Amino acid sequence: MIEQFAQLLSIFNSKKTFVITTHVNPDGDAIGSEVALALYLKNKGKEVTIINQSETPGHLLFLTEFFPVRTYNGNEDHRILNADCFCVVDTNSPKRFSAMAETVKRSPAVKVCIDHHLEHEHFADHYIVDTEVPATSELLYRIFVSDNPDSITKPIADALYAGIMTDTGSFKFPKTDAETHHITADLLQRGTDPYEIYQHVFESGEINKLHLLGKALERIEVHYNGKIASMALPRSIFAETQTEESDVDNLTQYVLSIKKVVVGLVFVELADGVKVSFRSKGDIAINEVAKQFGGGGHKNASGARLKNISLTDAVTSVIERTKMLLSTQEK
Ligand code: 5GP
Ligand code: MN
Repeated sequence: MIEQFAQLLSIFNSKKTFVITTHVNPDGDAIGSEVALALYLKNKGKEVTIINQSETPGHLLFLTEFFPVRTYNGNEDHRILNADCFCVVDTNSPKRFSAMAETVKRSPAVKVCIDHHLEHEHFADHYIVDTEVPATSELLYRIFVSDNPDSITKPIADALYAGIMTDTGSFKFPKTDAETHHITADLLQRGTDPYEIYQHVFESGEINKLHLLGKALERIEVHYNGKIASMALPRSIFAETQTEESDVDNLTQYVLSIKKVVVGLVFVELADGVKVSFRSKGDIAINEVAKQFGGGGHKNASGARLKNISLTDAVTSVIERTKMLLSTQEK
């Protein structure tokens, strides 16, 4: 890894203009990583723009005060085409930033992918991928430290902390280890206030989100001797509660909270299909099922977007495939 870091740093040092992006519906690790990388490069005297396919969700807007995040609308193409370096963080698939994927492909910029997901696609010139780290933000911390520990300023520390806190499920998911806590401790020493970040992320919601949660919890069902729990949200639920798709973040924890459940599935009806969040406990590689539906992610946390399918059909076929996975594991 150290050699790969050195190679990456020499690319960073030799380029002047950078565009950074991440996946659709960005989470804390996505925005945290982008903002931290943008600040790090800006402090090196680089020209940096962050352009995302989706808008930044409300609970992460505080990070955009450190560095602005633009939403792609086609008018940004010249930036992508004229950049020296295009950095993709927290995803390894152009499908996950599909609105600008064609432009990125046409751009002569050197493409760099910094990520922690399994099975990357071939679109970049350089990959810094570590599937063992719980967050891309943790990988960025290591990259910055390998360059110069002093490069991690307070805003960078805050952004990295937000990324690590959210992607580890507040330091509880399986990949959280001693190293994660050492890094977090160092970020606190640099001035990050954990309660301040917690308040921004978890205590800045609207009451509508709780109404959505209430309705969503009523929809939880269990299947397959109680080993699979699912929650299916029709689009009407968003109008009823005046919420949006991006407000369903974190619902997966509730389906997984049931005793005996080893796989949790959250289905959200989109305008043109269904988004599925897959979660599993222990040794169950639920990404195998996500892959069957054109998605991917991690062993215990993956996702997929199914096009042109009804919510009911998506639920039926995903549960069917999940049962097949569990039955092969039981043998
Ligand atoms: P979530 O269910 O929270 O949206 O996503 C869980 C994990 O699966 C994340 O690490 C995310 O990057 C990955 N993931 C979510 N949706 C997709 C998708 O459509 N395709 C792929 N390849 N990965 C996804
Ligand atoms: Mn991540």
